[in-house]
Parts: sequence; structure tokens; C-alpha cells
Amino acid sequence: MAAAALVLPPVTPPDYHRIVSSTLSVPSDPQTTIPVGLLACQRDPLLRELATTVVSSRLAEAPPQPKRAKKDKSGAPPPPATPLLEVLLHDTVLFPEGGGQPSDIGLLTSADGHVWDVAEVKRIGGHAVHYVKVVEKTVEDALAVFTTGAKVHVQLGDAGLQRRLDHMCMHTSQHLLSAVLEQRYQLDTLSWSLTAYPTPSYVEIPRAMTPDEIAAVQDECNRYVFEGRRVHIEVQELDAEGKNYRTPSKAIPDDYTGGVKRTVVIDGLDRNPCCGTHAPSLHNLQLFLLPHTDTLARGSAASARLLFLAGPRLLAHLAAAHTHLAAAAATLSCGAPQVPARVAQVVDERRRAAKRAEDLELELAAHLARDLLASADGAALVRRRHRTDDGANALAFLGAVATVCAVEAGTRPHTVVLSSAPPAQTPASTTVVLVFGDDERRVKEVGDALKARLGVKGGGKGMRWSGKFTGVWKEAKEGAVVNEILGL
Ligand SMILES: [Zn+2]
Repeated sequence: MAAAALVLPPVTPPDYHRIVSSTLSVPSDPQTTIPVGLLACQRDPLLRELATTVVSSRLAEAPPQPKRAKKDKSGAPPPPATPLLEVLLHDTVLFPEGGGQPSDIGLLTSADGHVWDVAEVKRIGGHAVHYVKVVEKTVEDALAVFTTGAKVHVQLGDAGLQRRLDHMCMHTSQHLLSAVLEQRYQLDTLSWSLTAYPTPSYVEIPRAMTPDEIAAVQDECNRYVFEGRRVHIEVQELDAEGKNYRTPSKAIPDDYTGGVKRTVVIDGLDRNPCCGTHAPSLHNLQLFLLPHTDTLARGSAASARLLFLAGPRLLAHLAAAHTHLAAAAATLSCGAPQVPARVAQVVDERRRAAKRAEDLELELAAHLARDLLASADGAALVRRRHRTDDGANALAFLGAVATVCAVEAGTRPHTVVLSSAPPAQTPASTTVVLVFGDDERRVKEVGDALKARLGVKGGGKGMRWSGKFTGVWKEAKEGAVVNEILGL
């Protein structure tokens, strides 16, 4: 996300956050928490750090123990979960999850200079609760540090800032996209997801869209981006009427007790109740829509997902797409625009080569079967043959030999053991073994002996028995044992 810092102005304009009620103000008493809706991260989304005061802290309930991976059979006890403090601050630059936007992460610096990781911030009722990791200190020491009235410094930190910029760009882009979808095509946003970086996010809409419609929506969104439309926030008390203001995608949560109604305004385009942190303008929020929709079944009606990218996530997507394409072009020894045609050509050549190899294998199998039959000169055929074969399905090839051999043997008595191992064997190599003949009882007898004497795992039915041997197959050793079993 290295290019993230380029996409936004350095400071939030002073008229970004507008309290539109004469009776509402931001609480200034450091012993109280500023409610979610009026937090510093919501008043000034580009603010990275803040000096503030602890209102309260307590030990969080123990998080559930992570489930041990199935493969972990060591019996060792799971690592202890890191204790977390729930800390309420007077104000914060860290956004608690909400409005579809995930929580920020960040850092707290206590008065003693110690830096504490904030793993997550959650909105509980109207409060932003900071979950602070307790490492290198005891819980008692941590509670003593985060005592009521203590001064702390709260900041996003580098990782938190990159994460926030990405979330902010994607969230504001979603408002722009949903507004254009609604106004141009009367398509309501049924839901949306700010997926984990760097996956494209999506809006869910009531029907699928054509590539032309998607291109038109993208053009229109980007016209607003080129204009650099301003974004601002309007805040007022949440009255009974405000509490009931909702559409499927724009509900104020039932458990919200912060008391403010917050509206995100894209100048001249959209007004949308939302608690998220939004970029102060659309400037540089170039929007890319994936040129198709994924259709979903939602109840009885079909709905569709339209995927989008903007800001740092769009740049990451372009960088990854370029890297993948350049790697494919280098492998195929062609320019990037030729990759699709070259891949199609390679796939076609491979399909034809596979067909030719299959035809040649059948021809070879017939030859090997006739060689076997000729080697006994018309008498009863008791033979063993070993092959070296790197094919993915060596057993199928042995089966083809057996089929021709059995057909051409006719009524001649025969018992044959075929084996096949890869050219470079290791103790983990697999040698496949096939027994076939005209006497079911004898075939089973030979199979059982292979199991007992060489540890070949397998089984059979009728005139065939097949199995696998794991390890290095030596003709002088394993081959000699098979000879003994056959009486050769
Ligand atoms: Zn929103």
C-alpha cells in the first residue's frame, strides 16, 4: 500500500464536520467519553494522533481459546491467549467498526512511555471500546497505567494508517457507487461488504448488470471523481424520527445509544446516514468496477454482486495483475497482449499431445503384450516384466498391456506379473504392480504372496489383482522375490 499517502489531501478541511443542530456540541469533560458519531476519527478522518484521557478500564473477558489445528498431535498445551484490557477514552482517532467498515488498529502510549497495541475497537452502545493487548506487563500493572484520568496518546501508527486509508477510500467509493446505481438505474444497494484487503469489495444489487451498464456506471462515477466533489458530514441529535430513518442498507443499529444522527454528504449527489470515516473529497478516488456481476440467489429473487476497487486497493490490484501477467508472458516468451492467444495455443497443443501420447501408449501396449506371448512360444505363459515409467497413470498402461495379452492369449494358460516404477526412485516412490491370468485362484494366490512377502498393498477381483509398493524397487531384490513366487 505504498502509494496510499498520495490519494488524499494532507489535512481535513475545517468545514468537513458540520454540527447542524444548535443544541448539540462535542462533550469537553475529559471524564466522559465522546459518543460514537462525534469521535475525532469521525470529525477529522485524516487526524493520525491525539492526546486524550482514560475514562475507565477493565480486564476483558477471556477470549475463546483458538481451536488447535487438526495436524497438531504434539499434545502441547495451546499458547496462552494474550490478555486484553477494555479501555474507554475521552476521545479517539481509532474508528470502532460500523457501517460496514471494519475496526481500526493502532497504538496507545501511556505516560510512562510504554507503547501498547490496540488490537481492535468496538462500538458498544454509544462507546468506542479499545481492546488493548497486555504483553511484557502484568494485568495489574496495565490496569494501574490505564487508571481513570490518566493521560494517554492514541495514534493510528503506520500499519493502522495504511489500513484506515484503504478502508476510507473503499467506503467513500461505495457511497458514490451506490448513489450512481440508484440514480441512474434505480438499483438499491441491498448490502455491501468492505472485504479484507486486497480483495475487491462489493455491493449487492437486485439484479445482474450488463458489461455496458457497468461501464456506464464506472464512467459516471469517475466523472464525479474528476470533478473532485467535496464530501462533508452533517450531525444532529438522533430524535425518534431519525432513529426510524432506515432503508435496507442504511439502518441505524438498534443498540446505538450515542444520540447523534450522522449524514455523509457527497455535494450535489448523495446524502446517506453512516458512521464511517469518509474521505473529505472524491479527489483521486478513481473507481474500477469488475466488468461483470456475480448472480446470487437471495430468497426467491435473484440478486447480484458488483465488485469494485478504489484507492490503494486498486493500485495493489493493478500491481498484482501486472506481476502475474508479466510472469506468464515471460514463461510463454511473448508480450503481455499475446498471452491469451499463446495460452490458448499451448492448451490446444497440450490436448493434442496428450491424445497422441494416449494413442502411442495403446500401440506400445499391444507390442509389449505380443512380445510377452511370443516369449513362451505357444506354451503356458508365466512371466514377469518390469518397466520404468514416469507417467501419471502407470497402472492404466499396465492394464492396457494385460487387456491385449488376455485377449490374444485366448485359451492359453497364463499368469503374468507386471510392475512399473518411476525412473528416479526414493524411499517415498510408488511402484505399481498388476497380476493377471486365466485362473482366478492362481491370480489371488500370487497377489496374496506379494502382500505377504513384499508388503504390496492391493486387492483384486476375477482375473486381475493390482497393488502399490512404497519404497525403492530393485530388480535384484523385489524382482527376484516375484520370480520365486511365480516359480521362475
Ligand atoms: Zn457508509
